[in-house]
Amino acid sequence: MNLVDRIDALLPQTQCTRCGYDGCRPYAQALADDLTAINRCPPGGAQGIEALAALLGRALIPLDPDCGSEADAGVAFIDQNACIGCARCLLPCPVDAIIGSQRYLHTVLECDCNGCELCLASCPVDCIVMRPRASGAGAPTAAENRARYERHRTRTQRSAHERAALLAERKRAVPTPDEPRSQ
Ligand code: SF4
Ligand code: SF4
Ligand code: SF4
Repeated sequence: MNLVDRIDALLPQTQCTRCGYDGCRPYAQALADDLTAINRCPPGGAQGIEALAALLGRALIPLDPDCGSEADAGVAFIDQNACIGCARCLLPCPVDAIIGSQRYLHTVLECDCNGCELCLASCPVDCIVMRPRASGAGAPTAAENRARYERHRTRTQRSAHERAALLAERKRAVPTPDEPRSQ
């Protein structure tokens, strides 16, 4: 395992971007390159800072309040009376915890939601709110978050490639001004 992998293994994998990086892996890379501080991950909290300090041989420092606080992650909740089924919240969710499709009400799978809050800004009618997790239910583990995020990335990359291929095919089918249109 290289250093980036070892750092990444200590991060909670919510992909929330509160550290100021585009997910856990980019933050791990910046830490390995000595470009950032070890105290920028609110979901990892004090325990995470301790683990990073031990691995990287750095001094213990408190969580940077500019990144957020170490509160228990809530879960997203969609107000079914207000949801217009636009599906804009699907893509930003790094773990595909929201189910629904165009013109249908959407809902959050509480057991998969890691509380990253990335869906909130995507909703044009502000009908997603964060709530405390139901008592007794734990947040997903880093391993679960990582596995779901990898599935999400594979799926979204495949969709992007398929879309690009379809567009290229359609462009090829557009006749030039001198060409007759095919029937
Ligand atoms: S979980 Fe921590 S390291 Fe990962 S994106 Fe959020 S703040 Fe950054
Ligand atoms: S439902 Fe919202 S808060 Fe929950 S994991 Fe997905 S984007 Fe994050
Ligand atoms: S973005 Fe908001 S309105 Fe659109 S489907 Fe998601 S929850 Fe419903």
